Amino acid sequence: MMPVLMPVYARSSVAPVRGEGCYLYDAEGRSWLDFAAGIAVNCLGHGHPHLTRAIQRAAETLIHVSNLYTSPQQERVARRLVDLTFADTVFFTNSGAEAIECAVKTCRRHHFVAGRPERFRILTFSQAFHGRTMTAIAATDQAKLRDGFEPLPDWFRVLPFDDLEAARAAIDGSIGGILVEPVQGEGGIRPASPAFLQGLRALCDAHGLLLILDEVQCGVGRTGTLFAYEQYGIAPDIMAIAKGIGGGVPLGACLATEHAASGMVVGTHGSTYGGNPLAMAAAEAVLDIVAEPAFLAQVRARASRLRAELEQMIPNHTIFEGVRGLGLMLGLKLRADSRAFVQHLRDHGLLTVAAADNVVRLLPPLIIEEAHIRECVEKLSAAAAAWQVPEAA
Ligand code: PLP
Repeated sequence: MMPVLMPVYARSSVAPVRGEGCYLYDAEGRSWLDFAAGIAVNCLGHGHPHLTRAIQRAAETLIHVSNLYTSPQQERVARRLVDLTFADTVFFTNSGAEAIECAVKTCRRHHFVAGRPERFRILTFSQAFHGRTMTAIAATDQAKLRDGFEPLPDWFRVLPFDDLEAARAAIDGSIGGILVEPVQGEGGIRPASPAFLQGLRALCDAHGLLLILDEVQCGVGRTGTLFAYEQYGIAPDIMAIAKGIGGGVPLGACLATEHAASGMVVGTHGSTYGGNPLAMAAAEAVLDIVAEPAFLAQVRARASRLRAELEQMIPNHTIFEGVRGLGLMLGLKLRADSRAFVQHLRDHGLLTVAAADNVVRLLPPLIIEEAHIRECVEKLSAAAAAWQVPEAA
């Protein structure tokens, strides 16, 4: 019989009903150290008082009104994002895939109003993940995402990641932009090299293309700066964000320069819920904390500590091959199947997320303390030791 939930996920048996700080609890009181953070969403952990109070106040005052009316709440958050980034203008969405949708439409309209509708294609990269809408799966070459959905629109050219020459060679009269994750998440925690991102920026400048960054996973403090692009010494024309910006309340945004958004006029895009007062209250609370330079410095300090402890632990266990990533977006490369090991880690009280290329993603709340780092490494170590027994048998 068909389950009541459409069976599109291989859900684990972990069934959290309550969260506190960096821990999740099930109905029986079992607890897990949460280094998955809802897949890089719960940047302030669970039940953070500032976020909780902001959401409570918004719920009591005004949850939703639609985008038919002036929104002082959206204007406040958009102003803060504009002041904190390269962008001049913002569109609020409910998810990462919708932020990507808006980014792609913004690029298309930019060329359309400039009299270049033939520049409808966008370059993307192998192992990229931009979401599950038809546009987002058309932007990837991953068979497991596309299977059963073809034919998909021929709007993208997928090229090898971190290969600047391939991007240069692929530019023809149909290309209008380049879409890239500064740090690939689902694709196995692969940071782009500075030469690659800087080279893509230069290619866009030389050919009149728009550089679109997908910072849905790596943005909002995750890598130790508010946005990852800051560490590459470049700025995009358009950027999709989501996940951390709502701290758990569904929210995304498409940020753009005035130049890039030249075609986004009345009627070109919309969303019933996007940027409602409840989501805006959450975003304000997140930005109050995460955008503070002292907080970001602490994220960087915790990230180096976690990385150093992982590097020290890795040689003690054959299952671990190495660690990679940026800030608190770290990937442990395994010499084993990462999905099975993530399951095994759950049994040891640690929640992580599997990624491609046999990588275990460590995406803790950005508020972690030294004690959580020690506990995580101890749990990883214990799980690795227990894993070696069946392997050797
Ligand atoms: N882009 C990236 C880089 C992501 O990691 C994700 C989700 O994991 C998305 C886009 C899609 O976001 P959502 O699941 O909110 O639609």
